[in-house]
Amino acid sequence: STPVLTIDGPSGSGKGTISRIVAQRLGWHYLDSGALYRAVGIAAGWSDIDLSDASALVRCTFDTVVRFRDDAGGEPRVIVNDVDATDELRTETAGAAASAIAAIPEVRAALKDRQRAFRQLPGLVADGRDMGTVIFPDAAHKVFLTASAEERAERRYKQLKDKGVSVTMDGLLREILARDARDASRTVAPLRPADDAVHIDTTGLPIEVVVARVLDIVVG
Ligand code: C5P
Repeated sequence: STPVLTIDGPSGSGKGTISRIVAQRLGWHYLDSGALYRAVGIAAGWSDIDLSDASALVRCTFDTVVRFRDDAGGEPRVIVNDVDATDELRTETAGAAASAIAAIPEVRAALKDRQRAFRQLPGLVADGRDMGTVIFPDAAHKVFLTASAEERAERRYKQLKDKGVSVTMDGLLREILARDARDASRTVAPLRPADDAVHIDTTGLPIEVVVARVLDIVVG
């Protein structure tokens, strides 16, 4: 069957960057599952749906159309209901909304098949929280990335500063720790590594070194 490499980990662990580069090197498809949760989160905001209204959020999940469009050289563009929402998706507001809706079991169930549909030849790199545990438990290759909270906050800080967003390191660190706590303590799909995942702590490691290690896991 079509090979899958799952890359799971907390926000800021380097998942997105590493997954995209590895997918490009392998010539495989790429699934940014967090973008699906974020897209539903911002679509709910556009429709003024309250984040505590679970049934409206489930309906919103079915109604939200997400498309990924490759952008030569850059991050792929994410189109939500025909609107290019790439920049809005990266905000901490979208992340917090995603994390809230991701705790609703019917929302996760509604996104299951959509995520599995990305499994196409010649292969798929799937980036998220539950790629190796729930969505692709039979994946041939599984990686779990971590990094210290300080390093993750610093990476977010640089990303946002490059985009001209004004934030403080303290604020970011607090948000990251709060999201970690929420993601780890929720009873629905808490973040945990698959039993057969290879762990890589990316703290202090250059991107190229992590990419090389991950490629090594896939091509041996
Ligand atoms: O990875 P990213 O930061 O874009 O994910 C945003 C939020 O979506 C996470 O904090 C998490 O709560 C949720 N998520 C999830 N399962 C995934 C991907 C993301 O629960 N596979």
